Amino acid sequence: MNDKANDLETDSAVYKTLLESTKAIPWKIDWATLQFTYIGPQIESLLGWAPTSWVSVEDWAARMHPDDREQVVNFCVAQSKAGTDHEADYRALTRDGSYVWIRDVVHVVRKENGDVDSLVGFMFDITERKTTEEKLATLQKELEELSFKDGLTGVANRRMFDSILDLEWTNSRRNNQPLALIMFDIDYFKQYNDHYGHIQGDDCLKRVGKTLGMAATRSRDFLARFGGEEFVLVLPDTDEKAALKIAERSRNLIFKEQIPHEKSPVSQILTVSIGVGAIVPALQDEPRRFVEEVDKRLYQAKQRGRNCLVASH
Ligand code: GH3
Ligand code: MG
Ligand code: MG
Repeated sequence: MNDKANDLETDSAVYKTLLESTKAIPWKIDWATLQFTYIGPQIESLLGWAPTSWVSVEDWAARMHPDDREQVVNFCVAQSKAGTDHEADYRALTRDGSYVWIRDVVHVVRKENGDVDSLVGFMFDITERKTTEEKLATLQKELEELSFKDGLTGVANRRMFDSILDLEWTNSRRNNQPLALIMFDIDYFKQYNDHYGHIQGDDCLKRVGKTLGMAATRSRDFLARFGGEEFVLVLPDTDEKAALKIAERSRNLIFKEQIPHEKSPVSQILTVSIGVGAIVPALQDEPRRFVEEVDKRLYQAKQRGRNCLVASH
């Protein structure tokens, strides 16, 4: 053997050692046959599948999470055909049935005439990074929920109410449909707190929130805590007649709860006063004005002796 050949042999041994001692897993696929011509032995310690079991791209695709498979395979095939280097993230199946997040970085090797000859690449284990990303996303979501949710009752807060009302208002105006509001205010809640204590007052608010949440059943019906002991329902595509029915149903549901309120001058059990309104918003109308109008009706219900509801007629 001459010196040059000897050097080459030493070099390739060095390369092999280097390739097989990194954390990244090298591989090579022959484009004509779509068969693996090489895969680093590290694959076995990462996924549990022996290098000899990686025969063709079919094995690669089969060992991918079903939710990732179609998109990743289509993407990689298209990029390879176009001769473009690329990378893809996916979950690879391990031999014991779990998944590891992989980033596959692929280089397309071309022949002299420009045709694709083979694909060479490295697989990186990015599970840790993905787990962190997922945790961050969950936290982010929780934070968003918290900022739109009332901490005590778990129903949407005032801020969310404002956003939803604006949205449904625009929607109703565009579709020329009625939008209804029902506002609730607990009767003599100050006396409730004074008599039963603030903690039980809090429990009572939770219970009322939960009960009102059951009164409206369509998917876009929306309940929020409007203020201290006030709740509001937003009912898209609902006229006043239909809203009155839901208001009555709400009253009955609260009545059925039979929450004792000994100090209430109107009843021995907890009651609410209700304002109801519906509008087909015209261009010059404003959501704030509509809320004020319904709030006025709620005030009238208080003046008429509480435990009742007031609508436009
Ligand atoms: P009315 O029949 O006129 O509505 O009388 P009211 O006593 O219910 O009305 P008022 O507005 O005078 O009092 C509301 C009470 O609601 C006073 C306040 O302490 C209580 N409240 C508001 N927010 C909370 C809360 O988060 N927890 C508890 N326990 N009480 C609350
Ligand atoms: Mg009030
Ligand atoms: Mg009240």
